[in-house]
Amino acid sequence: MEENILIFGHKNPDTDSICSSIVKEILNKKNGCEKSKAVRLGAVNKETQYVLNYLGIEAPELIEKVEEGQKVILVDHNEFNQSVEGIQNAKILGVIDHHRIANFETSDPLYYTARPYGCTSTILYKEFVQKGIEIEKTEATLMASAIISDTLLFKSPTTTEHDKKALEELGKIANINVEEYGLEMLKAGTDLDDFSEEQLINIDAKSLEKDGTKFVIAQVNTVSIEDVLKRQEKIKAVINKTIEEKGLSLFVFVVTDILNSNSEVIALGSRTDAVENAFDKKLVDNRMFLEGVVSRKKQVLPVIDKNI
Ligand code: MG
Ligand code: MG
Ligand code: MG
Repeated sequence: MEENILIFGHKNPDTDSICSSIVKEILNKKNGCEKSKAVRLGAVNKETQYVLNYLGIEAPELIEKVEEGQKVILVDHNEFNQSVEGIQNAKILGVIDHHRIANFETSDPLYYTARPYGCTSTILYKEFVQKGIEIEKTEATLMASAIISDTLLFKSPTTTEHDKKALEELGKIANINVEEYGLEMLKAGTDLDDFSEEQLINIDAKSLEKDGTKFVIAQVNTVSIEDVLKRQEKIKAVINKTIEEKGLSLFVFVVTDILNSNSEVIALGSRTDAVENAFDKKLVDNRMFLEGVVSRKKQVLPVIDKNI
C-alpha cells in the first residue's frame, strides 16, 4: 500500500467519485505512472453499481484511513472533513475537483486542477484530450456515467457547455444512447426501499463546517418524493440522533425528484433558521418544498452557508 499512489473521491462516494478515481488511475497508467491505485472511502451506491455491472468491473478497494506520508490524489473533493481519516498527514500530490475550495491545506506544493464544470470527469476528459491519450470504451463509459450523474442528465443548473460537449463525445466512444442509458442508471439509484433510515441519510451526506458550526447536507434522488416522505418520522428520528452524536447544529436532508426537478427538504437542529433565511420560506413540520431545486452545490449549499 505504501508504495502506491492512492486515488479517491469523497466519503459517501457518488458515481463521480468512484468513476473519476478509476479513470484517473487509467489515465495515470496510460501516462506511465504504474503505481496509481483507485480506492474508495465508502459503500458503492446503487447508481454506481449499475455502472460497474454494465462494464463488468469491480469496485475499487475500500480504505478506512491513510498512514502518515501516504501519497494520495484527491478527486471530486478537497475539504478535509469529506476526505479520508489521516488526510492531514498524507502527502497530497494532486487534486482534481469541481467544488469550492475550503478546509484544505498542504505543506508541500501540488498539482491542483479546479474547474467550475458540472463534473470531475469532464475535467479528466479534457486531460485525455490535451495529452493526446486514447480514450477507450471503459473509461468513456465511466466518465459519461459520472457526467450523467452529476448533471442529472443536464437538468442540473451546474451543467456547463464543457459537460455537454464531453458527454456527447464520450457517449459515442462508449457506444451508448446517452438518454436511455442515463435514465436507467439514474433510476437504479432511486431504489431506496431496502435502505434503513440510517443508511438513507448517509448515502450522499456532505459534512460541512463554518466558523466552528458543524452541519450536514445530505441528498437522495427519487422518482417519488411522496414515497420517501412516508418514512419521514423515522427519518427525522435518525437525523436527530445523528445531530446529537456528531454535535451538529443543522442537518438538511434533500429529497430530489429527478423526473420533475424539484426537491423536498427536511431540516432539523438548532440552526434551521439558516434554511428558512436561505430560501425565505418557513419550515412546516421541519419540511419545505423547493420548486426547481436539484443541485446541492449550486442551489442549496451556498445559500445555507451564507446564513449560518
Ligand atoms: Mg461528488
Ligand atoms: Mg462531482
Ligand atoms: Mg452529487
